[in-house]
Amino acid sequence: MRPIPLVDLRAQYAAIGPEIRSAIDGVLASARFINGPDVSSFEQKFAAFCDAEFAVGVGSGTDALTLALQALDVGPGDEVITTANTFIATAEAIVAVGAAPVFVDVDPSHFNMTAETLSAAVTPRTRATIPVHLYGQPAPMAEIVEVAARHSIKVIEDASQAHGAEYDGKRVGSWGDAAAFSFYPAKNLGAYGDAGAVVTNDEQIAAAVRMLRDHGRTDKYLHEYVGVNSRLDTLQAAVLGVKLSHMEEWNEARRAVAAKYDAGLGEFARLTLPARMRGGRHVYHLYVVRTDRRDELSQSLSDSGIGVGIHYPIPLHLQPAFRSLGHGMGDFPVSERLAASILSIPMYPELSDTQLSRIVQTIGAFR
Ligand SMILES: *Cc1c(COP(=O)(O)O)cnc(C)c1O
Repeated sequence: MRPIPLVDLRAQYAAIGPEIRSAIDGVLASARFINGPDVSSFEQKFAAFCDAEFAVGVGSGTDALTLALQALDVGPGDEVITTANTFIATAEAIVAVGAAPVFVDVDPSHFNMTAETLSAAVTPRTRATIPVHLYGQPAPMAEIVEVAARHSIKVIEDASQAHGAEYDGKRVGSWGDAAAFSFYPAKNLGAYGDAGAVVTNDEQIAAAVRMLRDHGRTDKYLHEYVGVNSRLDTLQAAVLGVKLSHMEEWNEARRAVAAKYDAGLGEFARLTLPARMRGGRHVYHLYVVRTDRRDELSQSLSDSGIGVGIHYPIPLHLQPAFRSLGHGMGDFPVSERLAASILSIPMYPELSDTQLSRIVQTIGAFR
């Protein structure tokens, strides 16, 4: 039987190939490879998609986080609170600007930061927090933004996995002072290479990121800051412009796949299915189940040609890269329990009913 991958970017390309090639041809013909109308048009459309005023394209999601922190003037001496249960880039950005990452544990049902965990970690040195909308599920932003306002700390959403997700009917990316999006190929909105964006409603933050991403320049050879080169590649912007027009439909297809998994897997007692938060619109970047026999289930699916993943196997506080923070096992028990029991199963808009039934049956047979 044909393998079913965890993510199938070829299936997506098969559906949109002609549109993509025509957009790329347009850039090649114009020979505008740096910035240009494809970049600004994508930025405008992506800001609108997020119900926000501004989007500034950058080189990656990691750079989006770093430049957003810089634009908010977060640096040495500052603490930035984020969760232990995220991809390392969230914390790398904090270190990159010279600030100190402070980890908190996550909620056991939705795997994200809560207002309570955030509030408990605030110190006089806290300057900002980076809530992550993990797996496409929004963090409880109304409550988080309220705690942040009470302590005068900035909020940068890490929305790298949550393009189009909503909390209380409001899109992620429009809640914080700024938000970082990744367009890594496998994300819900993915380029054909590295790309990212900072989204904000604050004109000054948008202007600062626009300068910082392009050598701190205000004019061709006038440099207001020491910046970096992290522009959104024009070919990638053209690809993203095409893909953005399919995003609502693709997110709905992901939600439909998730609903079928929920129905098909619900009866398996040893499996915990992803909870859907009240007031949240989950866009299922990943569909993550939990079981105390994770390694066996993972092996059994792999043996049947079904793609699996663990996002993420080692919480950040236990990563060698953060050993200087002095954490140990037991510091963030929820994140540690999750790391030992989570399993991502195939999730992409093109996943067919036949493929889905085979996955559900294979999991059922494992039981
Ligand atoms: C993908 C991802 C990033 C980093 O994005 P890149 O574009 O790969 O740099 C940051 N945070 C989270 C939560 C991610 O999933």
